[in-house]
Parts: sequence; structure tokens; C-alpha cells
Amino acid sequence: MPIYRAPVEDVLFLLDDVLHYERYGNLPGFADASRDVVEAVLNEGAKIAEQVLQPLNLVGDREGCKRAADGSVTTPKGFKEAFKAYGEGGWISLPMPAEYGGQALPHVLSQAVSEFMNSANQAFAMYPGLTSGAVAAILARGSEEQKQLYATRMIEGRWTGTMNLTEPHCGTDLGLLKTKAVPNGDGSYSITGQKIFISAGEHDMAENIIHLVLARIEGAPAGVKGISLFIVPKFEVSNDGAIGKRNAVVCGSLEHKMGIHGNATCVLNYDGAKGWLLGEANKGLAAMFVMMNEARLGVACQGLAQSEAAYQNAVEYARERLQGRSISGVKEADKAADPIIVHPDVRRMLLEIKAFNEGARAFMLWTALEADILHRSPDENARKAADDHLGLMTPVLKGVLTDIGFDNAVKAQQVFGGHGYVGEYGMDQFVRDARIAMIYEGANGIQALDLVGRKLPKDGGRAVMAFFKKVGDYVQEKSADENLKPFAAPLGKALGDLQKATMWFMANGMKNPDNAGAGSSDYMHLFGLVALGYMWAQIAEGALARKARDPSQAAQMDAKLTTGRFFVERMLPETSLRLQRIETGAATMMAMPAEAF
Ligand SMILES: Cc1cc2nc3c(=O)[nH]c(=O)nc-3n(C[C@H](O)[C@H](O)[C@H](O)COP(=O)(O)OP(=O)(O)OC[C@H]3O[C@@H](n4cnc5c(N)ncnc54)[C@H](O)[C@@H]3O)c2cc1C
Repeated sequence: MPIYRAPVEDVLFLLDDVLHYERYGNLPGFADASRDVVEAVLNEGAKIAEQVLQPLNLVGDREGCKRAADGSVTTPKGFKEAFKAYGEGGWISLPMPAEYGGQALPHVLSQAVSEFMNSANQAFAMYPGLTSGAVAAILARGSEEQKQLYATRMIEGRWTGTMNLTEPHCGTDLGLLKTKAVPNGDGSYSITGQKIFISAGEHDMAENIIHLVLARIEGAPAGVKGISLFIVPKFEVSNDGAIGKRNAVVCGSLEHKMGIHGNATCVLNYDGAKGWLLGEANKGLAAMFVMMNEARLGVACQGLAQSEAAYQNAVEYARERLQGRSISGVKEADKAADPIIVHPDVRRMLLEIKAFNEGARAFMLWTALEADILHRSPDENARKAADDHLGLMTPVLKGVLTDIGFDNAVKAQQVFGGHGYVGEYGMDQFVRDARIAMIYEGANGIQALDLVGRKLPKDGGRAVMAFFKKVGDYVQEKSADENLKPFAAPLGKALGDLQKATMWFMANGMKNPDNAGAGSSDYMHLFGLVALGYMWAQIAEGALARKARDPSQAAQMDAKLTTGRFFVERMLPETSLRLQRIETGAATMMAMPAEAF
């Protein structure tokens, strides 16, 4: 049976010593989230992740969801009860505004908890995760009536939410969308069409499901400019929230898929279902982007979460599995062989995962704090800078954390040798579950294009220049410190590679857009490495400070410093390779005729 321990200590270290949570104390609502409250919430979150959700992970994988002839869907044994406990425990309402029944606690706290939940059981965590995303869209674009009617009940955990973009012929290219909406004359619309791949699209865990559906109002312009967003409840509801008649939306089938078996991925058939416009007509994509941006960060978290869960199991196995002798001399002579953790190549795999996980966790929490600034700060300039940060970092986090998260699940499986490939230890599930995060919420190739094509040039490059300045100033300041130089100097070199790649795109991407497309994935990973390097320099700084302040923590902090050195010595240099690839441009790959592949 796989194990999982929520990394509460690491989150507290990052908040206390690296991100300096106390500096955010002036933000509205942060006073209610004192250090004690933060620790208590993390410990409670760890408990539900470890004791309620994790034991259901394997059950969900083995059992999967089942659809009956009438289109109803049953979730795996235990999911329904767990969802009730989850909602009642306030895990959906944690960061939501108080006026709609939320607890208004900092987003950074819910981000940390969300990692625990996704590590414990990604397929389960998607139900509340999608609900939170749908709530964000309703709160951002809905009327006061819609917020009161739908959002409050979703925040409570009584109703769940979904996002409906994809159609059989329409995935990345939403301009092809066909689902249509016809006005009924009473303010409602009749929605007709087929959506596929809809996560959490039908289930037995909540009283109602609120589908957010992209559709085209009759006569609307072609392409993305004619798309609107609709609220389509599974059951119609009266103004006081009472459940009414069944709406004309039915689960036509469940997708047979590689992983996340506990999450119902549905074909949803809309046959004149009653829906209500959310936000303005023909501005549906912008409204859906509120949900998608939230969901992209949620998916980034899934990449980290699977990497962490797989890692913990691999470490435990590597400490116990006896094979071969250490090449530098026997380590455990009383045993038939040494544990495989003595072998450098096994250590390489484990440290690559560990260094990624701890850096990526800092990166996610840093970005979550920026989201708190965006939503809470009274200072307009601070809000603008935070908005720039989120816009720039969302594709980087989504693309990099999920690509590497999957690689790490495979690496952790590799530590088990053949025992990872067979089902006994559950390592195959981490690999299968992690795989989807690279695909949905915009496949990672699309994240890379979003970064290079939209986020870099936006506002004259304001966001990227601010990031370069932040990292550049940090490098300059810390290079004089002998203890931090081993981290600051390689970071400076990596930043230089990123700046050169950015200049290269400016010079070559405009005159031939294929040059930008050809290098975009490398650029996204180069960007991610610099961001992780920046995190690791600050983690090292925090570890040195903590060690000086509290010698009882020396062993843990030394482990941090060793992990950080591993990152800058063995992982960060990949920036040069990425830059070299980018600078070769598109000529060779575009020279290949399609029929010659
Ligand atoms: C398990 C699962 C759950 C899902 N959940 C949901 C959900 O809840 N709601 C929802 O609406 N959808 C959902 N999806 C759909 C998912 O978001 C899409 O699969 C994804 O957006 C990609 O669309 P597609 O599969 O049609 O691929 P395509 O768009 O056909 O893309 C195929 C490949 O071509 C690449 N590509 C496409 N266009 C370009 C371009 N212009 N430039 C460069 N490369 C390009 C893509 O990166 C990809 O690698 C889910 C999918 C799965 C498998």
C-alpha cells in the first residue's frame, strides 16, 4: 500500500523563513490567519488528506466510476462520504469571501492544503477543485442573484461545479465550438450540443451540479468572438435554492481512460437544457478564463502533488530494498546486501525529484501570495504587479510543474525496478494519474505558446522585465555573501541564458513566428528553471538563517542546503542546453515535408 505524509513542516519553513509570511500581515484578512491558525489549518488539512482521502486513492483507481443506463454515475466506494466530510470541514470555503459563506482565509493557505489533497487523491480533489474554479467565475462575472443562488451552495459543498469547453471536433481551437444557445424569451436560453471529456460531469456526491458551459448564441459572430458562457444546473432551482425538475443534460457515457479513474470524465449531451448567461453575451471566453486560470494553477499543483507522493514512496523503498554493494565500500555488512539508497544513480533519481518538489512548492506558494495581494491589497500598484506575476507565471507553472511532475512519477517508479511496473506498490497509479495534467487545461505546448506569444510581449514586456529585475537585483545583492554565492552565481548565469533567449525571440520570432513556436517549449522550461533557481537561492538563505537561529534544526537545514546545491550544480545548468536549442530556430524542423515524417 502506498504511503503519504503531508509536508506540513516544509510548508511552515517556506512560509516562515523563505517567503516571510509575517510581512503580509497588513493585507485584509491576514490578521485572522495568525501563525497559530496557519499551523492548525495545515495540520487539520494533513489529517483529512492522510486519513480520509489517501486510503481511497487506490480504491478509486481500482473501482472507478460507473454509469447506469439512465445516465446516472456512481463514484467509488467512500467518495460520497469523504466529499460530505470535505465540504462540512470547510475545505472548499477556506479562501472564499465571507459574504458568500466563505472563511476568507489567505489563498496561500488553501494552496498548501490543496497540494496535500492532490497528493493524497488527485481524482477526488478534482471535484472540489473544479467547484472552486466555477465559484471564482461566478463571483467574478455573475449577477448578485447568481452569486447568492449558486456560489453560496457550492462554497458550502452542497453543489459542485464543472467546466464545459471541449467538443469532439473542438479542443484547443475553441473558435470551432458548435454548442448553441437559443433565447427562450424569459431571460433563459435553451442549450443544445455535445461536450466531451467533462471532469466531474456527473456523480452522486452532491445535490446538484452547476455546469459552466461555453455555447454560441444563435446569430453570434463566428470564431471566439461569438462565444458566451452559461450556467446550466443539472437540476433547475427556484430562487430560494430549492431543487426543481431535472434539466435536459445527460451523461451519455464515461470515457475509458488511463488514470484518475475515481473522477467521472463524461460525455455530456445537452438537449435544449435550460441555461442562464453568466457575464456578457459573446464575452464568454474571457469569463471562462477566470475559471481556466484558476484551474491551470490547480493543475500545476497536481504535477507537484503526484511528484511528491511518488517520491515519498520511492524514498521508503530505496531505504529498505537490498541489492548489490556500494561501489565505495560495503555500508551494511550485517545485511545480505546494501539498501539501494547507497547507489549514486538511485540518489540521483531521488535528489532530482526532491530538489524539484521543494523548489516547486516554494514557487507555488510564492505565486499564491501574489494572488492574495491581487485580491486583497489596497495598493493599486501592488495589485498591478501581482496581476503581472500571475499572468506570466501561470503558463510556466502549469507547463513545467506538470511536465516534470510526470517525469518524476516515472523516475520514482524506476527506483522500484520491476516492482514499480507491477501493481503491488501502486507506483503505476502515480504515473497514470500524473499524465493527464500535461494535457488538460490547455496542453503544455499551448502553455508554452501562451508564454512566448502572449505573456512576454504583453504591456511592452512589463511583467517579464519586472521578473528579470527582481532576480537580477537578488543575484547582485547576494553574490557578495560567501555563503550564498554558490547559489547566486549559477542563478545569475541561468538568468543570463533566459535573457539571451528572450532577446533571441525578439530578434527572430517577429520576422518568422515559427522560430517562436519551435523554441517555445524550451523557453518555458528555461523560464521554469530560473524561477526554481530563484526559489532555491532563497530557500538556502532561509535555511542558513534558521540554522543560525535554531541549532536544533541543523540537520534538517543542512539537508536543505545539500538539496539546493544539487539543484544548482546538476539541474540548473540545463538552461544552457535550452538556450542552444532555441537559437537553432525553426529552419530544420519546418524543412521536413509532412509526408516525409
Ligand atoms: C481526462 C480528461 C479530463 C478533461 N477534463 C475537461 C473538462 O473538465 N472540461 C473541458 O472542457 N475539457 C476537458 N478535457 C479536455 C482537455 O482540456 C483537452 O483534451 C485539451 O484541451 C486538448 O484538446 P484536444 O484533446 O482536442 O487536443 P487538440 O486540440 O486536438 O491538440 C492535439 C495536440 O496538438 C497540439 N496543438 C493544437 N493546436 C496547436 C497549435 N495551434 N499550436 C501548437 N500545437 C497545437 C496540442 O498541444 C496537442 O498536443 C479533459 C480531457 C481529458 C483527457
